[in-house]
Amino acid sequence: MRNKELNLAIFPGDGIGIEIIQEALKVLKVVSVKSSRKFNIQEGIIGGAAYDLAGNPLPEESMELAGKSDAVLLGAVGGPKWENLDYKLRPERALLGLRKQLGLFANLRPVVVFDSLIDTSTLKSEIIRNINIMIVRELTGDVYFGTPRGVHVENGNRIGINTMIYSEEEIRRIAKVAFEIAQKRGKNLVSVDKANVLESTQLWRDVVTEVSADFPDVTLRHMYVDNCAMQLIRNPLQFDVILTTNMFGDILSDEASMLTGSIGMLPSASLGRTKAMYEPIHGSAPDIAGKNIANPLAAILSVALMLRVSFDMPKEAEMIEKAVTDVLEKGLRTPDICQGGTKIVSTETMGEAVVEKLKEIMP
Ligand code: NAD
Repeated sequence: MRNKELNLAIFPGDGIGIEIIQEALKVLKVVSVKSSRKFNIQEGIIGGAAYDLAGNPLPEESMELAGKSDAVLLGAVGGPKWENLDYKLRPERALLGLRKQLGLFANLRPVVVFDSLIDTSTLKSEIIRNINIMIVRELTGDVYFGTPRGVHVENGNRIGINTMIYSEEEIRRIAKVAFEIAQKRGKNLVSVDKANVLESTQLWRDVVTEVSADFPDVTLRHMYVDNCAMQLIRNPLQFDVILTTNMFGDILSDEASMLTGSIGMLPSASLGRTKAMYEPIHGSAPDIAGKNIANPLAAILSVALMLRVSFDMPKEAEMIEKAVTDVLEKGLRTPDICQGGTKIVSTETMGEAVVEKLKEIMP
């Protein structure tokens, strides 16, 4: 990737997605100028915005754009305006479609606590200091994609069905990714399931155990999801890498985000064999959209993750993270992370502060 031009598709999406991606792009522009790497950036429509314009939350042109790019950077999709649409037309279906189409099966969600934000978490500082967890969530299987699904009527009674389903192959593929990541970190892997009541996750547990034989240097523990939800709050420092299913990962990673102070701080990467997509873990936050108060740092940190994982630019990624750390240490805060003695700033001011710092520290 070092010598070639980098093709990047940007999908701001809906709600605060538009505001935060603007700030992420400013940061990327600094990297592009300072590092003399050429980014070919093309913007596409997705989600509710795409439905309004094209009658489809994931139009063919957006699929093509994502398909020919080296990486995709996405804001967020969804909002009350589209809540009553048929499921197939809802903005969130576009995300599922994109992940499926690009074969993005591994979702990486780093949960890192910035020292200067320790007091913004609802948990005590001694519980969360030094947290550095990587959540590896399977992304293309489980109840979100399983069939049969839907709502039908039987004898005048409405029945809702979703199907939790995993194949051995899907489990093996994601388990390998998680073990490889654990090998490069603390060599400590917790696999999360509900094997005591769900057969599909008993298979999950069996296959993860089989894969562990190829990684003797990694310590594997199995944990039920309800216990994991509790342990994340009780003693999060016990975790290094958490491997889990699509639905459990969805829920546990939102919970884990609160360890860091705000959902507005967490980036994510979704990886396939050849494609990758980067996005903050939060949604379109309709309650604060259009007010210039959303936290853009998860989107900016998603750019850092993209540079590191997809574009082999670890130094540039580190510098973005350093710029974010510095801005937080100076006391700049969007409302979601504010605390006594800090200065509340807008989305735009926060983005510009990171840009200014980055310009200063990038050679
Ligand atoms: P949400 O993540 O959008 O918001 C949850 C809460 O966190 C809200 O109070 C919001 O104001 C706050 N928040 C989120 N991001 C923030 C940020 N960057 N800065 C400050 N505060 C922030 O989740 P929700 O309210 O459950 O969902 C809203 C819409 O987003 C729904 O339509 C949902 O389907 C969609 N959604 C999309 C994605 C995605 O695009 N990947 C993910 C989750 C939810």
